[in-house]
Amino acid sequence: MFEKKYDAIIIGAGLGGLMTAAGLVQAKKRVLVLEKAAFIGGKYTEIDYKGYKVTTGAWTNMGSNSHIDRFCQKVGAQVDYITLKQIRKERGTPGLLGKIRYKNGKEFLPTSTLNSPFSESEMQEFSKIMIGMVSKELEGIDRSKNVSVFEYAKNFTNSDKIIKLLDSLIGIASGLNSKTIPASEYKIILDDGFGIASGSFGFPIGGIKSIIDALEKVIINKGGEIRTKSAVEKILIDSNSATGVQLSDGKSIYSDLVVSNAGPRNLLKICGRNKFPSSFLKQVDSLIPIEALAIICGLNEPLSEDVPMIITPDCQRIAGIFQPTFFDPSVAPPGKTMIDIFAPLKTKDIKKEIDLTVKDLEDLYPGILDPSNLDFQLNMVFAGDFPAAEGAQTFRQTGNDRIDPRLPVNNLFMVGAEAIGSGVAADLIPIGVNKALEYILGTEKWLKVTT
Ligand SMILES: Cc1cc2nc3c(=O)[nH]c(=O)nc-3n(C[C@H](O)[C@H](O)[C@H](O)COP(=O)(O)OP(=O)(O)OC[C@H]3O[C@@H](n4cnc5c(N)ncnc54)[C@H](O)[C@@H]3O)c2cc1C
Repeated sequence: MFEKKYDAIIIGAGLGGLMTAAGLVQAKKRVLVLEKAAFIGGKYTEIDYKGYKVTTGAWTNMGSNSHIDRFCQKVGAQVDYITLKQIRKERGTPGLLGKIRYKNGKEFLPTSTLNSPFSESEMQEFSKIMIGMVSKELEGIDRSKNVSVFEYAKNFTNSDKIIKLLDSLIGIASGLNSKTIPASEYKIILDDGFGIASGSFGFPIGGIKSIIDALEKVIINKGGEIRTKSAVEKILIDSNSATGVQLSDGKSIYSDLVVSNAGPRNLLKICGRNKFPSSFLKQVDSLIPIEALAIICGLNEPLSEDVPMIITPDCQRIAGIFQPTFFDPSVAPPGKTMIDIFAPLKTKDIKKEIDLTVKDLEDLYPGILDPSNLDFQLNMVFAGDFPAAEGAQTFRQTGNDRIDPRLPVNNLFMVGAEAIGSGVAADLIPIGVNKALEYILGTEKWLKVTT
């Protein structure tokens, strides 16, 4: 028998893997995290580029009341936020997360009727949709799992302008649109968003990497180990039980259990499809990915002085633009602005998608990409082998219909964006991680883990 130096091996140092590792070390487990990239954090960190902290995917979480931060607090990972409320006090801004901008340059703040693109009756219709979505029950309206936001909204409006606004709002929160997201799922996103945004919406000081750094600190301080440039080639399985992993250099490492944060399709590759029942294979094969384009730009001039987010309903591709320097100027060189443009892909023609996104940007802000203003432009494509998420929060693939962290192989678990949970983007990850930790440690023991 080989000596087992670890209680748990975690494959992948994305948000899901690091959260699981932080939970396990707090329960005194010996943990090894193996990450194939040269850095940790996966699609939830920043990399230095020309003095800018450029994200590898995510823009931000929702602050100190988000699922992510509540999990961090539980495992002792300390993250400081700058909130919209603080900025409102310091700079006299409206304290709002976003405004709407159209290609004719008109902008509209949701708290004012000035410049409103909507008639009074459209405003009432939009309010009814939103109030209906967040209210507990709205009589006579079916808001079950199988009704899309589009179908739900049609009970109140025929306005294309309202549907396009909904598409943008849904796009930035989930990569989906009003026809592909179930109303029941968007309700949870709105409940989380309104609950948090009204109070403590904020940005981690120093960028989202601060969350990754804080989790790493907990793992290392509690005796866990993290190795980068360590790709797992194979999960070792004996008599339907995971026993460890084999690395790309051929070395095997043994442990009592293995947790994969490598995504469900990767999981099948490194285990072998023959290790799983056909029902599980069918579930993974049917996942509908979110595919998106992110264009990150460094600019000499700020894009928006009053709010961090711009919603763009009349664009062909752009759903919204986020300006992290609004919250924390230190994520860019002094005096510079960084923006992050998000555009869900509509075709497989990547060149066309980039061209349409850039055209949208130039229509929204003429001259923005002129050499006198543009410091850099990075186009990031999340599609094919590097999707934003392998499974979207769409019909029959949301909440508990997503992948259960307890896999059909004993002592093998899965965490990350495709595991069970509902909510705003990565903020659903801690829901699956909590479940995985309950299964691994037992509910009682996991509940007792607080620092
Ligand atoms: C453009 C874009 C914008 C987004 N914006 C937001 C946002 O603003 N807010 C938000 O909350 N979420 C956002 N998201 C979603 C968020 O980025 C993801 O949900 C989250 O980062 C996924 O985390 P994860 O742990 O599931 O996986 P990942 O971050 O993908 O981590 C998986 C890790 O496993 C590693 N790995 C894979 N295979 C192996 C192997 N064989 N051996 C070892 N390591 C392996 C990978 O290298 C990676 O580091 C955005 C996503 C995208 C693409």
